[in-house]
Amino acid sequence: MHPFQYQRASSPAQASAAVAAQPTAAFVAGGTSQLDLMKEGVLHPELLVDVTPLGLTSITPLEGGGLRLGAGVSNTAAALHPLVRQRYPAVSEALLAGASTQIRNMASLGGNPLQRTRCPYFRDPAQPCNKREPGSGCAALGGYNRVHALFGASDKCVATHPSDLAVALAALDAQVQTLGPGGPRVIPFTELHRLPGDTPQQDTTLAHGELITSLDLPAFNGRSHYLKVRERASYAFALVSCAVALEMEGKKIRRARVALGGVAHKPWRLPAAVETMLAGQKPSEKLFRAAAAQAFAEARPLEHNAYKIPMGRNLLVRALLETSGLQPLQGPAGTAFAASVGGVSGEVAAQ
Ligand SMILES: Cc1cc2nc3c(=O)[nH]c(=O)nc-3n(C[C@H](O)[C@H](O)[C@H](O)COP(=O)(O)OP(=O)(O)OC[C@H]3O[C@@H](n4cnc5c(N)ncnc54)[C@H](O)[C@@H]3O)c2cc1C
Ligand code: SF4
Repeated sequence: MHPFQYQRASSPAQASAAVAAQPTAAFVAGGTSQLDLMKEGVLHPELLVDVTPLGLTSITPLEGGGLRLGAGVSNTAAALHPLVRQRYPAVSEALLAGASTQIRNMASLGGNPLQRTRCPYFRDPAQPCNKREPGSGCAALGGYNRVHALFGASDKCVATHPSDLAVALAALDAQVQTLGPGGPRVIPFTELHRLPGDTPQQDTTLAHGELITSLDLPAFNGRSHYLKVRERASYAFALVSCAVALEMEGKKIRRARVALGGVAHKPWRLPAAVETMLAGQKPSEKLFRAAAAQAFAEARPLEHNAYKIPMGRNLLVRALLETSGLQPLQGPAGTAFAASVGGVSGEVAAQ
């Protein structure tokens, strides 16, 4: 590990200024992602600014019915908070479907959406990787690309974004509150992450030194749900995942919002045309199958990841069936059991 300086932040403004002033500096919160990458020789910051002394650990109801989740809240605390569980079960389910209890206890809500890709070539400094070393090439393009992207990739990078929480936040239209060198700003969550294009080294639209202070969930009176397919029933990243937020009017869907995980460089919100297809309709398997077919019509598989297309279509149908109540959840809403597809991923893929 390369030597680095460590500083405890004294205020959000001081933390932001300290990172902004040093080109390789980074924030660290729980350290479950940042420190791993430093130990693996992927990242070499000269300064780490620890943001845990800032607190930012409250969960506060917002006027109008929303909920503010401080960036320093642990994944565990957020997942188990009664208001999160009751009003936004997709958020609890996504958090509890991620990592292990020990990691969730350390991990923070600010750090989680900013974790880096799990592309194995990114994590191996012996391999060419445009994200780790711009201009060096992309080992995944001609390599083993089973866990890589179906949508929005470029010839420079085909990586996927790994956070489960981010998928739920994208479906719920959360907002990100930040404090950066240019002052405070609010970013729609769907605009936090970017597609790789020619600059895959940039994962997000944040400026260097821009600190996330909270994630705001808007008021929501509908049903939300998260489903994840992975290689093991726990402690594994999503091959494909799906978050659904449905608002009903009587027996019809008034508004549907859907995001997919494991398929792109950012949480992949379905095209507006697909979400609109569901609005004003009575839930039915036929409708959901038609929407899923549309959702994957533009998928561009690589050599080894075409299996994600039927898997993703079937997962999306199931997530819509379960969220609309046409099919029971696998477990109580807001728990890890509800997020599980049960059995092995092949069952979902094979249908
Ligand atoms: C074995 C293992 C399995 C895992 N499985 C999953 C999984 O299945 N699903 C999943 O979603 N995640 C999974 N994770 C990832 C884990 O959830 C994240 O590492 C964690 O949420 C990151 O939070 P942290 O506080 O530890 O961030 P850190 O590691 O401290 O930081 C991560 C990044 O965020 C930045 N950062 C931190 N806080 C802020 C802030 N307030 N403002 C701006 N930048 C900030 C840091 O500079 C860094 O770039 C797994 C991790 C491990 C090690
Ligand atoms: S897919 Fe992206 S992260 Fe993976 S090797 Fe290629 S450039 Fe690097």
